[in-house]
Amino acid sequence: MAPVPTPALVLALYDYSNTSQIAVLFTRDLGKVRGLAKGAKRATGAFQGGLEVGAVYDVQLIRKTEGLDLLTRASMAENFPGLRRSAAALNAAFYVLELAGELTVEHDPQPAFWKVALDTLRLLDRGAPGDIVLFRFEAAALSLLGFMPRTESCALCGAKLPARPAFSPRFGGALCAACGPRDPGARPVSAGALRMMARLAEGAIPLESLNVDGRIGRELRAAFSLFWLNLLGRELRSGRFL
Ligand SMILES: [Zn+2]
Repeated sequence: MAPVPTPALVLALYDYSNTSQIAVLFTRDLGKVRGLAKGAKRATGAFQGGLEVGAVYDVQLIRKTEGLDLLTRASMAENFPGLRRSAAALNAAFYVLELAGELTVEHDPQPAFWKVALDTLRLLDRGAPGDIVLFRFEAAALSLLGFMPRTESCALCGAKLPARPAFSPRFGGALCAACGPRDPGARPVSAGALRMMARLAEGAIPLESLNVDGRIGRELRAAFSLFWLNLLGRELRSGRFL
């Protein structure tokens, strides 16, 4: 098969031998891909001394019917040097990489989500506030990948929500007082925090005019964490450092 060119964000790297690496890539055109980069760690050659986690490359990939795809070329396009200036920005970037890896499937392209992930890393690189940038990223993931929970009325019976509904990722959103007890894993979240989640998912609010104050911020963080825990069946490793 002929090599396919695509831009790709490096999610993770594993040593394969003394000279080769396996790269887990989130590509724009092919979705998530596991590619073998033969000779990647040699100083000369197609990979110029090795790939970097969190950087974007223009790559060429040959799809294999069995086993790993073959990465035949990679030239760096962007590497976000500003992330290394602060531990908080770096942690937020690792959270983006981990979530992107968990929410994507191999060879299932999600170009809109790919673009959001890159834009998020660019904002973090420029020093934009990490909590707001991540909330926007997580809300965009919900809407672009078809996970958006119901936040306007009860996800089970459609009734009007109280001021502090139960948030139930398992049943697809907020629950009214009568339905809440049906999910022991649901957690109370203010209607205001859920409205903010929905507005963030619409993507209509400019970053500068977003104000996620302390309480709403804490509730949003708890709601997203509960959502990802329910969807993935485990906590995100990088979520501990947020
Ligand atoms: Zn209900």
